[in-house]
Amino acid sequence: MFNLGSVSTPSKTTDDKGKHVKVLVIGSGPAGYAAALYAARAELQPLVLTGMQLGGQAALTHTIENYPGFPEGVGGAELGELFQKQAERFGATTEFDLANAVDFSQRPFKVTTDNSQYLADTVVISTGASPNHLQIPGEVEMTGKGVSYCATCDGWFFKDKKVVVVGGGDSALEEGLFLTRFASEVNIVHRREELRAGAILQKRASANDKINFLWNTIVTEVVGEEKVEAVKMKNVKTGEETTFDTDGLFIFIGHTPNTQIFEGQLELDDLGYIKVNSQMETSVEGVFAGGEAADPHFRQVVTSAGMGAAAAIQATRYLEAQEA
Ligand code: NAP
Repeated sequence: MFNLGSVSTPSKTTDDKGKHVKVLVIGSGPAGYAAALYAARAELQPLVLTGMQLGGQAALTHTIENYPGFPEGVGGAELGELFQKQAERFGATTEFDLANAVDFSQRPFKVTTDNSQYLADTVVISTGASPNHLQIPGEVEMTGKGVSYCATCDGWFFKDKKVVVVGGGDSALEEGLFLTRFASEVNIVHRREELRAGAILQKRASANDKINFLWNTIVTEVVGEEKVEAVKMKNVKTGEETTFDTDGLFIFIGHTPNTQIFEGQLELDDLGYIKVNSQMETSVEGVFAGGEAADPHFRQVVTSAGMGAAAAIQATRYLEAQEA
């Protein structure tokens, strides 16, 4: 059983200001709105803090073709709006606000945002994760126009095309292998001459005729007007600079879970993901988490939504037990 931290419950707070809610959902991606939907249908009037990006990472994806129920696919932003609409239909509310500090040491839990402060009987955290960026010229401008951080989402658009993949870890190789289903050529660019990825993935990638490795190489710029046309590269050993024609640039240099504000409040793993048990309980009783902030493994819209729903079901049970 997960080790739950101890939390004191003051009978009455005198200095606490802010809106009191039964369920506060931090984050508005698939996990957040699935949690809000379930909490709303349990008549708990959840409040969703959107964070920086309404709809989370999924909203940045051009088309989502692997979320069940949409045989023709659905735009990422459109799916986000549908999630929101469905949750709000049952009484969830949305605040366009960013949580920047939490105090889980006593109940009600305190969450401070850019614009306000909330007191919450339960919190569902669904703050997601952000793919690490190369931070090179053209990367931001070409995102969605050939630059991608998700092969599962965007690989299909590169049928018979040439792509560059950056990274030398498990993600780069696994996603690079996935891209060989579509692309005619997958060029994996790694900054060293040794891969970080596990042996099995290395073997499979080396044996795949569509995969080429470019060692000791970094991508320094994305070139293109309307879409990616080429990338500039540099060999870090020889200093040689080249321009490499490509239709796409996939970047897999790690993800960072958006959990910085929970440091010191919740148990996090070595990579910063929130530790949850199978009931989506965190190390603090009454605080639940779902989606990519608590999931280094699957990172899919459907799995995040499932975790969010589970977190809200458990939050509902927790509140019922409190009232009993
Ligand atoms: P990762 O293991 O941290 O690898 C990131 C890769 O990107 C490394 O090769 C790193 O190079 C490179 N990199 C980092 N910053 C860079 C930069 N600024 N420019 C160029 N290259 C850069 O991340 P991951 O591959 O996403 O994996 C994360 C975790 O999930 C790992 O624990 C991994 O084992 C796990 N995972 C497992 C599976 C699986 O088992 N099937 C699949 C995916 C992920 P260096 O090697 O030089 O540091």
